Amino acid sequence: MKLKSVVIAAAQVGVLAGALACAGTATAAQQFISIGTGGVTGVYYPTGGAICRLVNKKRKEHGFRCSAESTGGSIYNINTIRAGELEFGVAQSDWQYHAYHGTSKFKDAGKFENLRAVFSVHPEPVTVIASDSSGIVNIDDVKGKRMNIGNPGSGTRGTWEVLEAALGWERSDLKLAAEMKSAETGQAVCDGKIDAYFWLVGHPSALTQESLATCDAHLVNVTGPAVDKLVADNSYYRTATIPAGMYNNDSDINTFGVGATFVSSADVSEEAVYVVVKAVFDNFEDFKKLHPAFANLKESEMITDALSAPLHAGAIKYYKERGWM
Ligand code: GLU
Repeated sequence: MKLKSVVIAAAQVGVLAGALACAGTATAAQQFISIGTGGVTGVYYPTGGAICRLVNKKRKEHGFRCSAESTGGSIYNINTIRAGELEFGVAQSDWQYHAYHGTSKFKDAGKFENLRAVFSVHPEPVTVIASDSSGIVNIDDVKGKRMNIGNPGSGTRGTWEVLEAALGWERSDLKLAAEMKSAETGQAVCDGKIDAYFWLVGHPSALTQESLATCDAHLVNVTGPAVDKLVADNSYYRTATIPAGMYNNDSDINTFGVGATFVSSADVSEEAVYVVVKAVFDNFEDFKKLHPAFANLKESEMITDALSAPLHAGAIKYYKERGWM
């Protein structure tokens, strides 16, 4: 009744009626933002889902509708953001570094100068899961074995290639270098089709948990002089530990790793990035509850650690408002 009378009153004043019609379309005109993630059993996919969930809660206020897409992983996400087909993506800190600087796998494409960091998320240790029957204990034991090295486009695959070179191995040093997507690897170890799979992932992760709980399999140490040298020479690598008892491991698993980071492009509007960052950090306690790998996240570390591209202006705006910068 009230609404009706407003409409009738407005209709009597032509200008006002026009203003009302405009207001109507403004709410309807949604903007879409997509986040590139990884395989559905990884941690990137639920990370994108968690971010979108918080963004979409206030959809009616800010007009952005967010969706998380399962993708091939870090390198695919960065390349697709560069092509303007994704607004955001989750990417390993080593590949953020190389994309921005135009090094390693990004040498041919050249520097992605518009790449922007938004924040970092969980740590991602290099994680190798091997069947008990394979006899693999440390990464060196993988030589001559059948291992999944990651699908092309994954950060996992890229980092395997770096480690492979650091170990001084050729591809033929593996009996089989499988290229399955992460979601397929657990079953392949269980079925004895491969001896191990290699990936960089946050912990706990669904796939790691499932493999270790349902197959006769264990985590492998990734240590030795080649790893020490990689960590010493590159700021984006750190030594890392998968703590005792996290899965079926009685003792700490020693390895090295990177950070998962959330990235975008300078071509994405300040408003869009601000809305996303605000959704996460205004609701930070809720965000941390959305995945167990987020349990130890700290705001101060997330806005500085593992980021090598410049921060996006929309992120800086929010961090300044909070007095963090
Ligand atoms: N770090 C992996 C990659 O970039 C993805 C891990 C995940 O899906 O959580 O390939």
